[in-house]
Order: sequence, then C-alpha cells, then structure tokens
Amino acid sequence: MELHGIGASPLRKEDWPLLRGEGTFIADFKRPGMVHALVVRSPFAHARFSHIDGSAAMQAPGVIDLITAAELPDRGRPIPTRMFKDEAANRFLQKPLADGEVRYSGEPVAVLIAESRYLAEDAAELLSIDYEPLEVVLDMDDAPVAGHLVIERGDIEAAFAQADEVIKEEFRIQRHAATPLETRGLVAEFDAGAQTLTVWGAAKIPHVNRRILAQLLGWDESRIRLVELHVGGGFGARGEFYPEDFLIPFAAMRVGRPVAWIEDREESLRAMNHSREQVHRVELALKADGTFLGLKDTFVNNTGAYVRTHGMTVPGLSISMLPGPYAWPAYRGEYRSVLTNKTPCGTYRSPGRFEVNFVRERLIDIAANRLGIDKVEIRRRNFIREFPHDTGTLFDEHPVVYDSGDYSLLLEKALEAFDYSGLKRWRAQRSPDGFRRGLGIAFFVEKAGPAEREYARVELTGAGDVTVYTGTASLGQGMETTLAQVCSTHLGLPFDRVTVKHGDTAVIPEGMGSFGSRAAMMGGAAVMGASVKLRRRLLERAAEELEAAPDDLVLTVDGVAVRGAPSRERRGSIRLRAFRLPIWNPHGGSRGRHRHRRCPSPPLRRRLRHRPGDQPGDRARPDRRRLRAGPRRSAAGGIRVRRERPAAGRELHGLPAAHLGGGSRHRRAHHRGRAVAAQSAWREGGGGGRHRGGGRRDRQRGGRRAGRRGHPASVEPETRDRAGERMKPAPFEYDDPRSVDETIGLLARYGDDCKVLAGGQSLVPLMNFRLARPGRLVDINGVESLGQVKVENGRLLLGAMVRHAHVERSNDIAARWPLLHDAIVWVGHSQIRNRGTVGGSVAHADPAAELPCALAALDAKFHVLSKRGPRVLRWDQIFVSEFTTSLAPDELLTAIEVPPQDPSTGVAFVEFARRHGDFALGGAAVSIMLARNGTCSDVAIALLSAGPRPVRAEEAERRLKGGQVDDAAIKRASAAAVQGLHPTSDLHGSREYRVKLLQVMTERALTKALQRATRWAA
Ligand SMILES: Cc1cc2nc3c(=O)[nH]c(=O)nc-3n(C[C@H](O)[C@H](O)[C@H](O)COP(=O)(O)OP(=O)(O)OC[C@H]3O[C@@H](n4cnc5c(N)ncnc54)[C@H](O)[C@@H]3O)c2cc1C
Repeated sequence: MELHGIGASPLRKEDWPLLRGEGTFIADFKRPGMVHALVVRSPFAHARFSHIDGSAAMQAPGVIDLITAAELPDRGRPIPTRMFKDEAANRFLQKPLADGEVRYSGEPVAVLIAESRYLAEDAAELLSIDYEPLEVVLDMDDAPVAGHLVIERGDIEAAFAQADEVIKEEFRIQRHAATPLETRGLVAEFDAGAQTLTVWGAAKIPHVNRRILAQLLGWDESRIRLVELHVGGGFGARGEFYPEDFLIPFAAMRVGRPVAWIEDREESLRAMNHSREQVHRVELALKADGTFLGLKDTFVNNTGAYVRTHGMTVPGLSISMLPGPYAWPAYRGEYRSVLTNKTPCGTYRSPGRFEVNFVRERLIDIAANRLGIDKVEIRRRNFIREFPHDTGTLFDEHPVVYDSGDYSLLLEKALEAFDYSGLKRWRAQRSPDGFRRGLGIAFFVEKAGPAEREYARVELTGAGDVTVYTGTASLGQGMETTLAQVCSTHLGLPFDRVTVKHGDTAVIPEGMGSFGSRAAMMGGAAVMGASVKLRRRLLERAAEELEAAPDDLVLTVDGVAVRGAPSRERRGSIRLRAFRLPIWNPHGGSRGRHRHRRCPSPPLRRRLRHRPGDQPGDRARPDRRRLRAGPRRSAAGGIRVRRERPAAGRELHGLPAAHLGGGSRHRRAHHRGRAVAAQSAWREGGGGGRHRGGGRRDRQRGGRRAGRRGHPASVEPETRDRAGERMKPAPFEYDDPRSVDETIGLLARYGDDCKVLAGGQSLVPLMNFRLARPGRLVDINGVESLGQVKVENGRLLLGAMVRHAHVERSNDIAARWPLLHDAIVWVGHSQIRNRGTVGGSVAHADPAAELPCALAALDAKFHVLSKRGPRVLRWDQIFVSEFTTSLAPDELLTAIEVPPQDPSTGVAFVEFARRHGDFALGGAAVSIMLARNGTCSDVAIALLSAGPRPVRAEEAERRLKGGQVDDAAIKRASAAAVQGLHPTSDLHGSREYRVKLLQVMTERALTKALQRATRWAA
C-alpha cells in the first residue's frame, strides 16, 4: 500500500481545481440579489471634516445606501490588537470609519452601496466632504509614541565599560508592503429570520476574525459564519481584521441584501497593512579578539496612523529576535513605536526578523572589518554553545528560550555546501565584465509556530475515506497536501483517501489560522496527534474482535488485518465510522510543554484545549506570570522589562489638542471620490470627473463606438446604465476623427478636457485605474496620414501613429538608424509594441521610456500642429519633466524627425531592468564616430531613468570629443556622465544605486558603440 506520506512528492491536492479553472476566488463568488460596496477613502494624509453631504450621491442611479460613522454602533468600535498586546496603545486603535478626522491617505470615511461597483464609483464623485487639511507628521523622530518597551539582560553598562572596541551604527529599513496577487474581498449576507451573518472571503485567520466581528457587533460568535474560499496569497498582510471586515457585514445587515466588496489595487496599496519601517541606533561592545560583550539597540518603529491588529507585533518581534544565534553577556533593547500620517502597519513576511537580522549581521560585518577578523571567524567565536539558552527577551510576553541547536556545525555545513573557500578565491579574481565581486554571510534564528494551540479532527467514513478538519487556513502554501501527508503517515491510510477541510467556521469549531510558519508545525502536530490516536483506537477496537494484540495488527486499504494472517483480516470499516477525534495540538508549540490528556472513548465531543493560564509551563516558570504584570525583574532569567505609557507629545489622535490646532489653515476641500495618487501628464486628469461640454445624456461609456464617425457618440440612458455597469474608466465622450485637420479642430474646441488616444498602452491603464479622467477622448487611430514613414533628404520622418513594432521590424530603419531599432526592442513586450506608437511614447514622457532617450541621443526634432500653426521642437524643448511635455492642450504631435546617420557611426543602447519588459532602472544610448586617426569626431550620450526627463551627458561628450577613445577614456567619461545626477530614489533602487548603475551602463554602451565604430573603420 503506497501511502505518499511525509517525504513523498504526490501531486498537490489543492492544484486540481485551480489548474482546471475551477477555483473560486472571492471575485468569482456571487449570491442572488448581490449588491456592491465602495469604500470611500480619504485623499488626505491628515485632515479634519465636519460634514459628509451625500444627498446628491444618494440620488445617483443604482445607489442604495450610504454609511458614515454616524450610522455605526457607538459611531464605530475600535478594532482590537490580537498579539503583542499593549494596553497603553489601545487608545490609538482604528475604528471602522473615520469620524471627523482622517489620519492617512486611504482611510475609510464612508461606504456607498449600489447595484454595481461602477455606479457606486460614479456616485462617490458626487459626495461632498468639507476636508480641512492639517499638518502632517512623517518624521519618526518627531512623532508621538504609541508603544514603548525596554528589555535588559545582564549588566549592559559594565559590558560597554570593559570593551576594547565599540561599534555604533544607524540602520534604516524602509517601508514595505505586501501585494498579494488577489486583493482583499468579501461577500456578506444577513439572514434576517435566523439573525445570522455569513461572510465569504475570509483568509488566514477566519476564527480569530469571527471573534473580533462578534465583539464589534456585540453578538455571540455562534451567529456568525466565516468561510474561506481560494486565496491568492497573503504574505502576512491579507486576512487580518481590517475596517472593511466590519463594514461589509454591517452593510449587508443594513440593506438586507448580500453585499460584495472587492478591493482594487490602488486601494490595496493605500489601505492594506504596510510594514517594516524602522530606524535602529545600535551599539556593539566587543573585545579585541572579537568576543562580544554587549549589544544595545534603540529603535523607532513607524506604525503609521493607527495601531492595527498587529500594531505592536513587529517592534515586539524585532526586540525579541535581535540577539540571534550569539551569546550576549548583556543585551539592552528599547523601542518606541510611533504614529505618523502613513498607512497603518502590521506584519509582512518574516516581520521583525527581516529587520533585525539585517541590523545585527551588518553590524557584525562592520565589527569584523574594524578588528581585521574574518567574518566567518567572528561569528564562530560568538555562537551560543549551551542549550537551552534563555535569550532574555520575550515573544508576546513569553520568554524566548532556544531549546537546542548546534550553530557551529550548521556553519561548517553551510561553508562546505557553498564551497566557501572556492568562493573566496572567485571573489579575489578580476571579473571579466567589470563587475566587483562580493561575498556575504549572515546568520539568523527563525521562530515558527506562534499561537499556543491548534485544532484538528480526523474522521473515518464507512467507505474508509478520511477527512481531516483543521483550524489552519490555506493561502496557497500547499497546506492541504502537507496535512494530508501528515495524516497519511500517522494514520497509515493512503494520501489519496485523505481530504482536508479548512476555513469554514460552521464545520470547524475553533482554529488559530495560518501565519508565522505555523500551519505545518502547529496544524501538522495537531493532525499527527489526532491521526495517531485514531489509528490506536482502530487497532484496539479490532484487536478485541480479532482476538489479537494491537501490536500484531496492521491497517490495510480495506480494514484491519493480523500481521501474516490475511484470513483474519477485518474487511470494511463498519464499526470505524464512529471515530471522531477532535484534538487540540498536544505539543508544546511556542508556549513550552503542554499537558497531554488521554482521549475519552468515541464518539468524542470534548475538545482538548490548553489555555494559556493553565499551562504546566507557567508553573514551571513562575516568572512568566510576573512578566505580564509590567515592570519586573525576574529571578530566573535576570530579565528586566519596562513597558512604558507613551509620553504626551505631538499627537495625531487629538491627545492633547494643541498639535491639531492649526487654526489659521482653514482650507476647504470638496472630496469628489478618490484621490489621484499618481503624478500624471499635465493633461491627465483633464475632466477631473466633472461633467464639462455636454450633459450626461450624450455621454458614451466604455468607448463603444456609437454614433457617426467624428461626432460625439450619443447613447440612450438605459443602454448607458447597462454599459456603465461594465465600465472601468470614469465616463468620457469619444471622437474618432479621420484627418489631422479634424483632430486639430476637436483639440482646439475641447482644450484641456480632452486627451488624444493613440495606442492606448499608457492612457487606457491610467483611465482604468481612474488616475486619468479625460472628459473626452480624441482617437487618432483613424488618421491615416499620421501612420506614415518617410525618408526626405536623408531624414527619417516617423508619423506620430507609427507603431513601435514597425520600427522594430523595418530593415531600412535597422540599417540606417540602428540606435532607434536597438532602443525600441526594449519597450515592454511585443504585445505592447504592436499597439504602442512612437508619438504616444514621446507625448507620455515617461523618464524610463527608451524612445525619448534614444531620440535625445539622435538630436531628433518634433513636429507639432495646432490651430495656431505648426511648431518644431528640439528634444530638450519638448521633454519638460516626468510625464510632462511642452505640448499645449490643443496641440497634436504629428511627426518625429530623425537626422541622417553616417553609416560609420557606432551605436549602442543598453539598459538594466529587473525583468525583460519592465521599465528600466537605468540605461544609456550612445552614438560615436571616429576620425581617420582613431580619435572621436562626434559622440552623443543620453541617459535613461537618470532624472525627470532624458539626460544628455554633455560633460562626458566634451571629454571624449577629439581624443583617443580607450578603456581609460571610457571610464573617465562614464564617471563624468553621472556627475551631478539626481535620479529618483524609490523602492526599486536608491539614488546611489541608480547613479552607480548609470555609470556602468554608460561604460558598457560606450564600449559596445566603440567596438562597432572601430569595426566599421577597419
Ligand atoms: C505592461 C506595459 C509595459 C510597458 N513597458 C514599457 C517600456 O518598457 N518602455 C516604454 O517606453 N514604454 C513601456 N510601456 C508604455 C508603452 O510603450 C506605451 O505604448 C507608450 O508609452 C504610449 O504609447 P501609446 O501609443 O500607447 O499612447 P497612449 O497610451 O494612447 O497615449 C499616451 C499619452 O500620450 C498622449 N498622446 C498620444 N499620442 C499623441 C499625439 N500624437 N499628440 C499628442 N498627445 C499624444 C495621450 O493623450 C496620452 O496622454 C509599457 C506599457 C505597458 C502597458
């Protein structure tokens, strides 16, 4: 009998429906009569408001209800934290809706319920909210404190007094945010007869969220059912209890119909937990031989505008995991978790450990360099060698004790596996491509399996199939497969017979969910315990009937048999169906040893459960209870913990009021729906959602081509509403001119309320996200003359509507203007290039776009036309800044003129992007000509993603012109090319990184172009 248990590689159980397209994600889930919710969010990071005028919105088509804080019970009850609780921080908890003050951009202020999401979006534009912007707190050092903790172990002052060397450093970890492929979403339904609520779309912690929802509604948990569907990724952020987890069920109760809410990506980025933002000021005391004496870290954690369910988890984990695998005679950790006007924070992949592993290991590297000790050796000398080892820190108020380990052995194994000495030799060699080589080593200790218990129940059916019920959740991590393998191994029945059920609070009474690497560890241990017990019970029962000792029995696919005596096999499992074993994880998990109780006889209904206050571990470690009480020094571990109430200071939460005064700055702002979050071209956002030029009656939605060509389309209201339900962009009017003159006429007439539509590859996504809201589109795809390619007097004239794909495939362009060809193949993917146009790439003016950069190197000219007449602009006249050109609203870019290129010119276009098709982090376009004597007669260097618009490296060009071009000259020119550059720092790369990258790119492009020019000369 093949079990396919632990260690085997069977096909994953969860993949079968997903691969056949039968998955049910929340956006696939529908209920009869379902309506849609839009969460109206603050466009301001900090503002006061006194009134939300929803009268016009309520009159809009399809609108059913508007919910503000005034409609909520107690005007909204605060959402509690669920781990690392800190009473002092409770006054900064978030309520479901802002009530008079918003503290981050994206904070929910109201919920609109309508027949469709699009109708709700349109109605949201009619809401008027009298925002009065307030001062914004972003600087962590200047921010009010929500939580403060100090942990001390050993005599830290003495440790530093004895030190031969003290290393002091400051490390900053930037804000990160999870972006699961599937954004959050919920469908809630209220049964008025039974007075019960069902909520689909739960993830990660359904039972915990049921408890919180019940608490906020003031209900008994039994009236609420949460159901998990397929989940497209969690990463720690998805599935926590958010304001929407209250608002959507509450909306369903109010309107008496099922209510759906699907978060869009922009909402997700602003509203779902962020994480990680910390500044560590850290000091390491050590002896000259590298022995660690003490570690001091004072860090600030930016928790954002509110303390959310995991508000204190990240700083709490950071302070507890900083010591890592090293024996510190003394350790002092202190954090201040502060409030700023940013999205509130929670956990994100390896919360707390990501941050402090970097801090500690970097600090050790610096110490090793300072003392001249090998980086491996300094670690080896300081490992913990005796176990169990009490780190002196706390995890959610419980001492962090490492039970076992052999870090030196691990290190040796890793060095061998990676061939560390070979890598050192490799690093010492010169890289043929000019890169510098580095070799890094870092150590970490990982905690797994938080939350002290887990639920599992294993049932055997009459047909011999097994069902495992688990309190863990599936986030796409393969939990069903893992738990089925655990069950199969310990029960002794094949994997194929095991079905794993999870995520429905109606059939699984309790559970702690999936987070912190706990599903396999805690859920697996619970399933193991239940499976072992079921197996034992089966064999005991069969032993009586078969008159054999249980140890002589084996489980087969059909039943139970006596080893070596098939005739005495008990076929079928008639008696076995009654076996139901609900078992809480009988293993210690994160809270030490737990009592192991024997299961009573079947059928079992009683749950074996371990309460935190009822643990033998507590009795064995009296300090645990005392630590909960506040500032104490425990006799056992020498730990001193101080949890301090935040001092009064700058406040975002109205305590004290002084900070909020700001009386002089009374600016009223009417919020028309959601914020435009991206910086956009100066014509983007044209209509701003306002209804200019033509009333609603002749609006076409969805860009459907109704009406006569060249005339605004007219759609009957009924059709319009139906179309509206399918529309993503805000409503717009649509024109489809056939000639340049007609286009110019339309642009002159509608001015900045309209936008030209070319390939649509940039404009349409912006409109779909409503980051651009033109009142009218002038589609120039039907203007044939704009699609022409001409060569006149050796100059290339590309009509604005020439597609990227044409430039890519034209042999003539590749031969005569190779730089254009080389640049265009980097633009997006072939699908983008098939539609995208050269005019669109220029007019969009993305500083990371290849074409503008190449055109800058080629000294191209840009032909522009309006009713006022033609203009010809140089590249440095048309590109103004990020996504901004000097084209006036009534001007059309008609053609791009590229000067002739001498065939002897050597060209190169190089760039670096994380993946092919992504916008480049940096790049360079070079053309170079050599004189007969080999000196440089002409050169052009343009840089990509180097600033708000293409940059010509004039100083580098000047240095090269007239001189011999060799490796040294190229290096000097590349260094000169990046002098004074200020590329934007963002999450893809810091300013320093980008400058370095641009230098390398310039060097490569020059080298390549030179090779080509030299080949020509030869
Ligand atoms: C997934 C993806 C990846 C991409 N990757 C890259 C990349 O790596 N590199 C890159 O360069 N681009 C990239 N792009 C952008 C793409 O190249 C666009 O096609 C291009 O930026 C715009 O060209 P378009 O014809 O589609 O213009 P549209 O999207 O139709 O218009 C863009 C803007 O230009 C204006 N406009 C267009 N034509 C004219 C005109 N003749 N006169 C006046 N204004 C005009 C429009 O009003 C609009 O504001 C990517 C796009 C996508 C969707």
